[in-house]
Amino acid sequence: MMDQSTDCLFCRVIAGKLPAKKVYEDKHVFAFEDINPQAPTHVLIVPKKHLSGLKEATAKDADTIGRCHLAAAEIARQRGIENGYRTVLNVGSGAGQSVFHLHVHLLGGRNLGWPPG
Ligand code: AMP
Ligand code: ZN
Repeated sequence: MMDQSTDCLFCRVIAGKLPAKKVYEDKHVFAFEDINPQAPTHVLIVPKKHLSGLKEATAKDADTIGRCHLAAAEIARQRGIENGYRTVLNVGSGAGQSVFHLHVHLLGGRNLGWPPG
């Protein structure tokens, strides 16, 4: 049985075993600065409970996933980027998912093109 807290990168961040710039934390959610930012604001919001990705989510995860998005909205409010920001879930390696602990990207602080690449 895999020990998520040691084998998963973001579980290690949440446990404080890997350094990260924390932005926000509550009972369900942890948020930190992306190590390779793609915009002036690039924050990752993750559920504290390990969940591989959206594909693996079920109805019992709905509250957690919703809370991640509400945390993104709150961070955007605090940073004054509400003129235009984007929340992104990359789902599967074909879409660029490289860390298999569900994370919402919050991107903002610059003009964001559409469609995304
Ligand atoms: P994704 O490609 O959607 O799976 O996103 C993974 C994101 O995690 C990328 O934007 C990486 O820059 C970011 N990342 C990887 N390792 C770390 C880390 N140790 N601390 C913060 N962000 C990270
Ligand atoms: Zn994890």
